[in-house]
Amino acid sequence: MQQRKPKLGQNFLVDDAARHGIADALGDVSARTVIEIGPGHGAITSILADRAKKLVCIELDRALVPELRFRFRNHPNVEIIEADVLKTDLTALVAANAPAGEKAFAVGNLPYYITSDILFHLCAHSAALEVAVVMMQREVADRVAAEPGNRDFGLLSATVQMYANVANLFTLPPAAFDPPPDVHSTVLRMAFASRFAELGIHDAVGFDRFLKGCFQQKRKTLSNNLRAVGYTPEQIAAACSAAGVQSSVRAEALPLDRFAALFLAL
Ligand code: SAM
Repeated sequence: MQQRKPKLGQNFLVDDAARHGIADALGDVSARTVIEIGPGHGAITSILADRAKKLVCIELDRALVPELRFRFRNHPNVEIIEADVLKTDLTALVAANAPAGEKAFAVGNLPYYITSDILFHLCAHSAALEVAVVMMQREVADRVAAEPGNRDFGLLSATVQMYANVANLFTLPPAAFDPPPDVHSTVLRMAFASRFAELGIHDAVGFDRFLKGCFQQKRKTLSNNLRAVGYTPEQIAAACSAAGVQSSVRAEALPLDRFAALFLAL
């Protein structure tokens, strides 16, 4: 039976081993700043409050914020911010809470209704982040971690993998949450390491836009998708030949270095 979708993606984690598994996956944070996305009732927060040098939690639900502030009132290292993570400048938040030049860690049992947006947001601020340990719907995690040639490989995989090395840590059944979601959930560890310099790309925003064009319609060939975003058949043919890519290929089959070569050739 279909469950009613909880408000703000609020499926709270009630599996003790899982919340410890998520906190443990961050490693030693005793000298580090951690940003938690969506602390909820504090399942992960309560572990990290005793471990992190500084823990900054971003929670959108204004009803949860006073509860969290009260619960962690004796933890001067914990700050609860009432905000939408997608509207939060994470780079500025890290600069305000970590020593100059030091990156922060991110963690969260993500609200599933905006998981992809949060992942793109983390990528956009990845220069300020070292590692993120994030839980999401299993199918989305499979897409994030998919390799080229796999049917799950798409815009989300290509974009995230330009910014981070992704490892699949563990998967949880619906019963690990209250209320239980309809789906299984997977925890990913993203170690941020941008591939832009290595692939010779200086215009990250332009490249991200190019990737969107390449994956615009999953069933179309790369060549047709590029035509749809304004390139001429001649430009596409020349770029494919320079990049060693067959124009009849679909974007889901291309490794990141071929996307980069095509982008540079175009
Ligand atoms: N961390 C808690 C846990 O594991 O039990 C709660 C996880 S629950 C899946 C997602 C949390 O994100 C909720 O507390 C929800 O209110 C919060 N949330 C939803 N949308 C948000 C947003 N745009 N910005 C910040 N927090 C958000």
